[in-house]
Amino acid sequence: MNILVVEDEKGLREALVKSLTDEGYMAEGAADGQDGLDLIRTGVYDLVVLDIMLPKKNGLEVLSAMRAESFDMPVILLTARSQLQDKIGGMDRGADDYLTKPFEMEELFARIRMVSRRVHKVAVDHNLRVGDLALNVQSYELSSTQKGRSVKLGAKEFQLLEYLMHNPGMVLSREQITEKVWGFDSEAEYNNVDVYISFVRKKLQFVGTKMKIQSVRGVGYKLQEEQ
Ligand code: CA
Repeated sequence: MNILVVEDEKGLREALVKSLTDEGYMAEGAADGQDGLDLIRTGVYDLVVLDIMLPKKNGLEVLSAMRAESFDMPVILLTARSQLQDKIGGMDRGADDYLTKPFEMEELFARIRMVSRRVHKVAVDHNLRVGDLALNVQSYELSSTQKGRSVKLGAKEFQLLEYLMHNPGMVLSREQITEKVWGFDSEAEYNNVDVYISFVRKKLQFVGTKMKIQSVRGVGYKLQEEQ
């Protein structure tokens, strides 16, 4: 999961990005509302941690703008204790949750797990399901109801398949997959995508699912049930 942290306070922003990264997420920071909105518009983030008091555009303006443009990834607002009114305004504009500063990292992790579970309909047993396929988002275990076999995925394989399972039937380009799984600044080549797709295909085959990763020539890949 790819998380954007929009926070102007440099120390806090860097601490959040580092803690999220240590926790196994991909995370990047933005120092003001405009920069944050520009990054949100790339569409590569799954969740946004958004401070309210920000230079250039405040958090509530960013939230209104992104929702108006149909960027519907979950947003967790960060508020100061004195900003109760903003908190209410934020929930009205489509925030999914909020945290009052100062907060413990564990509290943020718990909120992130909760909102992402709600949005992606991850079941109580931690499984993300598409068709006969189940992917456990905690243990990275892949299984299918077809044969009852399961296999563990590596971290990149997991992120790749999770991205495809969040967008079933949609064609995802190599560029989108590269940015999502390896990040903007990575040295990863597009053919990394092809290599990891082949790893994941082998595991899909092993568990005996009817869900297949189809190649769409010249564009990318999509996950769909075998015709
Ligand atoms: Ca601030």
